[in-house]
Amino acid sequence: MPNTQLVDPFGRRITYLRLSVTDRCDFRCTYCMSEHMQFAPRAQILSLEELYRVADAFIALGVKRIRITGGEPLVRKGLCSLLTRLGERDELDDLAITTNGSQLEAMAAALKMAGVKRLNISLDSLRADRFAAFTRRDSLAAVLRGIEAARAAGFARIKLNTVVQKGRNDDEVLELLEYAMARDLDISFIEEMPLGAVVSHEREQTFCSSDQVRSLIEQRHPLVRSSHATGGPSRYWRVAGSGTRVGFISPHSGNFCGDCNRVRVTAEGRLVLCLGHEGALDLRSVLRGSPGDSPRLQQALREALQLKPERHHFRLDQQVQVVRFMSVTGG
Ligand code: SAM
Ligand code: SF4
Repeated sequence: MPNTQLVDPFGRRITYLRLSVTDRCDFRCTYCMSEHMQFAPRAQILSLEELYRVADAFIALGVKRIRITGGEPLVRKGLCSLLTRLGERDELDDLAITTNGSQLEAMAAALKMAGVKRLNISLDSLRADRFAAFTRRDSLAAVLRGIEAARAAGFARIKLNTVVQKGRNDDEVLELLEYAMARDLDISFIEEMPLGAVVSHEREQTFCSSDQVRSLIEQRHPLVRSSHATGGPSRYWRVAGSGTRVGFISPHSGNFCGDCNRVRVTAEGRLVLCLGHEGALDLRSVLRGSPGDSPRLQQALREALQLKPERHHFRLDQQVQVVRFMSVTGG
């Protein structure tokens, strides 16, 4: 019987794919991109059909959850047609999107109709000037309207993602949490990762650990450990007396590699086995070299999995450890 599972040399079963549909974005977040980002030529970006073929091969090998990301996935033209095809795949337990929210006001209802089950929306500040400093765009109001549109479209358990930086938005942690609580949203606080060279700040100086964020929160809101787990980097808590779950993504202070269940595919078709390593396998040449040959693609995925590293080694005293920006890898 053919091997229909993806298992790496450390016995970890891969059931979760993060699929980037574009490296382009309408924001330029300082921790994620440079101001003058060089994007890949369009011919190098996978077509919607190629993206579907990649997803299909992973589904055939046992992947149950797909998260669409980028860049900003909602700026990819024709995205809803891809989502509709994926939304029809009964094998998937989850089809989710991570977005900056800027296009949600116009698109939330269409995403829901296409079969998207869950949304993560990035939000680093509720103050317009700070938001503009983080994203290099003056779009807070559009994002807040997008969050309301997502709620109105009926998405359950929307999750906010907040990268916390000392001296820049750590004093807003309670405000952001209470904004989430008032709308029955979940929220994850993220430690910044050293991906790509940034010019706006010294990462070591702005680092704020998940433990620090948790104690800020517990000054006002007791947290109860939640059993919710995604096989990913988030550790979850629940605000006592509220439906809001609080996640902490701690690549520095809490290594989460032991139970890693995921891989990423970039918009250019590079299979990234670990966020913290440069290594990647070129799936685009397999896709374009053997069009329509699903067994060949699945074999390439199985072979690549044998190279998945055991863990990452992010270090605070190194500004850049992986030259690939998060927007290229797909967060
Ligand atoms: N554009 C979408 C968005 O912003 O939600 C999806 C892609 S973005 C790369 C995904 C997530 O990665 C965002 O929540 C963003 O805050 C996070 N991110 C980007 N660069 C990061 C870094 N260096 N360290 C930690 N998180 C980062
Ligand atoms: Fe764009 Fe998301 Fe990166 Fe910000 S974090 S620049 S919104 S891809």
